[in-house]
This record gives sequence, C-alpha cells and structure tokens, in this order.
Amino acid sequence: MASVWLTGLALVLAGPVPALLARARWPRAVPRAAIVLWQAVAAAAVLAAVGSALAAPEALLRVLTHPRERTGFPLLIAVGVAAVLAGLIVVRLFGVLVLLAVRTRMRRARHRDMVDLLARAEQNDAVGSLRAGTVLRVLDGAVPFAYCVPGRVGREGRVVVTGATLDTLGPDELSAVIAHEQAHLDARHDLVREGFTALHKAFPVVARSREARDAVALLLEMLADDAGRRRHGDDAMAGALDAFASRGGEGTEHDDVLLRRDRIRAHVQGGRALSVGIYLAAVALVVVPTITIVIPWLTDALQGLRPL
Ligand SMILES: [Zn+2]
Repeated sequence: MASVWLTGLALVLAGPVPALLARARWPRAVPRAAIVLWQAVAAAAVLAAVGSALAAPEALLRVLTHPRERTGFPLLIAVGVAAVLAGLIVVRLFGVLVLLAVRTRMRRARHRDMVDLLARAEQNDAVGSLRAGTVLRVLDGAVPFAYCVPGRVGREGRVVVTGATLDTLGPDELSAVIAHEQAHLDARHDLVREGFTALHKAFPVVARSREARDAVALLLEMLADDAGRRRHGDDAMAGALDAFASRGGEGTEHDDVLLRRDRIRAHVQGGRALSVGIYLAAVALVVVPTITIVIPWLTDALQGLRPL
C-alpha cells in the first residue's frame, strides 16, 4: 500500500502542485519563503519517487506470495529490483546535476574572461566600489541591461552592466541594480537555479515541466529586487526596471521585468505570518509523508523479513 501512496504523492507533487503554485500570486509577496516551499515540493517529490521504487517490488511480492514464500530467492529478487529502481532515479539525478555543474562552471569561466577582455576599464570607477569578492565590468552597448557571473573559489564574481545602463539610470537606480546583482552573488542564487534546472533535465521529456524552474527563477529575481529596495528604496528599484523594460522586446523575460516593476510599485510585501505558515508547510511536506507512510512501511517490511 505504501508504494501506491508514494507513487500517488510523487505524481501529485510533480504535476498538479507545481502547476497550482506557479499560477498563485501570493508567492510574490514572500519570495524567500516561496522558494523554500518550491524546494520542499521538489525534495518531497524525489523522496516519494525513490520511496515508491523501493516499496513497489516488496508490495508485489506480498500480493503474489504466501508469507512463508517471502524468503530466499524471491525476497532477494524483490530487494535487488527495489535497489536497482531507486538507484536509477538517484544516479540519474546526481549524474545530471554533476554534468550541469561542470558545464556551467566551464561556461562561466569563459564568460568571466570574455567580460574582463571587453570591459571598458575607465568606466568601472563611475559606479563606485562593490563589495570585496565582486568586480564590476562595463561593456559597450546601446541597450541598458545588467547581470552577474558568479565567481568560484579564489576568483571574484562579476557584475556586468552596459554603458547604456550608466547613461540611462540615475545614481540611486544604478545603486539599486548593483545591490540586486550583489544579492544574487552573495546568496548564491545560481545554486538554487542550478538545482531546479537539473531536476528539470533529469525528468523524462514527456513528464518534464518548466513551471518549477521558471517560477523559481522569477522568485529569485524578486528576492534580489527586495535587496535593492531595502538598500535604495522602491522608487530606485522600480525606476531601474522601468528603464530595462523600456528597451522594448517581447516574450517572457520582458513580461517578467514588467511584472517585477508593478510588484514594487504596488508595494507588495508579505507579512511574517504568511512566511511562517509557508515555512511550516514546507517542513510538513517532507516530514508528514515520512511519518505517516515511510516509517510504518519500513517497520512492516522489516517485520516481514524476520524468519518465520
Ligand atoms: Zn537578477
């Protein structure tokens, strides 16, 4: 029975729950708590999938055999199949994560070298000093935009802006943008994104959904916006997003910038009670299935393994 519950839970957490969560508006008020909830949903889905793979062969053995026959070779086969199924899920996830991490770091190293080469050194001073461990690079460009490239041990991260960003934004707006990028680097938002990208890639193409990955990416942007707001005010952060949005373009990225700007202009900010409720829900998502499904199943299975 545990395998049925765990399979159902894994399917619900991989499909309907992300779909609902991605459409909800309340996560925008508490992006940090919402990201933790997304992580809990992902962790619970993976744990349920692994648990279901472990429990299914034993459940099948129970249905097909008499208790006295659940020893020796049939039991060995069931345990072996369970280990292989669960191992496949874990190895697939871990393999995708390692491959993604290696490729991302190689690409970033090239990217850092490239922006170092192309940077307009004389303009770096215009922005003022960044925190230790971060270097500003100004690139030629007629379109205002900014982004960051995380560093690695012994190498600084880069905050990259175009010349048009310096020309277009006011001093407070520019400082808010730098604070936004610095927040990405300080809190290692790239690692959170990497985890969800790996999860997305690890799923079979037919079962794969971009909802979790894209929703978390947008919440991370909002979290960094909040860092800019805290340090330089709502007007500065919203004004900078306005300038980025007015460069035109279309598609999801442009829509997301407008959405972030409107969120700041509407002063969307969640209360402590909402955050606490979401953190509790995140913990419950992982703990409740473990207590109500996994532990009883494990106890039962271990008893079944005892020699009669
Ligand atoms: Zn950002």
